[in-house]
Amino acid sequence: MVAVSRCRVCDAPIDAFMSFGRMPIANGFLTANEIPNEYFFELAPAFCGACGMFQIMEQPEPEKMFHEQYAFFSSTSRHMQAHFEGFANAVLGRVLAGRADPFVVELGSNDGIMLRHFQRRGIRHLGIEPSINVADVARGHGINTISEFFGRKLADDIVAEHGHADAILAANVMCHIPDLPGVAAGVQRLLKPDGVFIFEDPYLGDMIAKTSYDQIYDEHVFIFSVNSVARAFAMHGLELIDVMPQTTHGGSMRYMLAPKGSRAVSAAVGDALAKERAQGLDQGGTYLRFKQNCEASRGLLMRTLEKLPGKGKRVVGYGATSKSTTVTNYCGITPDHVEFISDTTPIKQGKLSPGAHIPVRPYTEFTRQYPDYALLFAWNHATEIREKESAFIAAGGQWIVYVPEVKIVS
Ligand SMILES: [Zn+2]
Repeated sequence: MVAVSRCRVCDAPIDAFMSFGRMPIANGFLTANEIPNEYFFELAPAFCGACGMFQIMEQPEPEKMFHEQYAFFSSTSRHMQAHFEGFANAVLGRVLAGRADPFVVELGSNDGIMLRHFQRRGIRHLGIEPSINVADVARGHGINTISEFFGRKLADDIVAEHGHADAILAANVMCHIPDLPGVAAGVQRLLKPDGVFIFEDPYLGDMIAKTSYDQIYDEHVFIFSVNSVARAFAMHGLELIDVMPQTTHGGSMRYMLAPKGSRAVSAAVGDALAKERAQGLDQGGTYLRFKQNCEASRGLLMRTLEKLPGKGKRVVGYGATSKSTTVTNYCGITPDHVEFISDTTPIKQGKLSPGAHIPVRPYTEFTRQYPDYALLFAWNHATEIREKESAFIAAGGQWIVYVPEVKIVS
């Protein structure tokens, strides 16, 4: 376990403003035999008043969090495939157009879901994916990938071998890396003087507005805001030149950075900073209200589960997501409340959910005999799911949702 008492970005002293309590590894699905050795840590977020960075105080060692057998393959989601095609097209059109022999690097390139759009066009590219079995899948598709951790040292090596990069990309990766200053120094080293660094991650403004506290779990060491990203990278000579809100992961932000003074700064940056000040994202009091909102959400969700209309009603969880681990453990949801969690991922089926030990069963168990209520853990895909499950509603089923508020909906 790695616990900090100082901000990972600016080194100012920080303190947790709340605790979600004893928490297992979010993706640590386990068998009954493994229960005695289940690992727990305290999930407690802090807000750095000095640089505005939202972060968790304790984090399990990476080897506890990123099991090879639970490797997440981005390309299994059709929705995410379309999203990354859009991301790649934005880079091709806005950054690479007209450049001679451009070079694109992606941090945390996974199975190549984004880089394949560059590879297909014959563009020089390099994926950096520390997870060896995931990188192997990318290499199998002809995508140049190395399995190392990115920082200043690797940036030197890449420059020596391939030259500087026109674009460095990252999606849902930066918020996982505790040594943000080390990565920022590597990006600064690797980027061409007229290059850009574009990344996206779940957005703090959405999390606070929606009380979507399930964004907070072991892998998400940071939840970024426009303000905290601008300040963290300014320390390494990189300027935030544009921001673009995204609907993915329940509300994300795409950030575009460039060497300071190399490009015009979009009005969207100033607008987003003003919006964050209006929302109070720079004020400690906002986080105390967030804590109260989390407690209220927890209370209402548990009252809802415990007093469902009608006797003997069946409740099934929908989607054994990493996010759901924070919800089940913080709220105290047990197999008495939720019969099982339906999930399409074979490796999770037949296991128990982390901490709460709710059985995970195949999706066919959900459709075979629809429950009366489905607790929507995968709420960030609500639109797609509710379209897909019209037969569940037609059979009289109802959804229990908790973001942005707790309610029962058809
Ligand atoms: Zn700080």
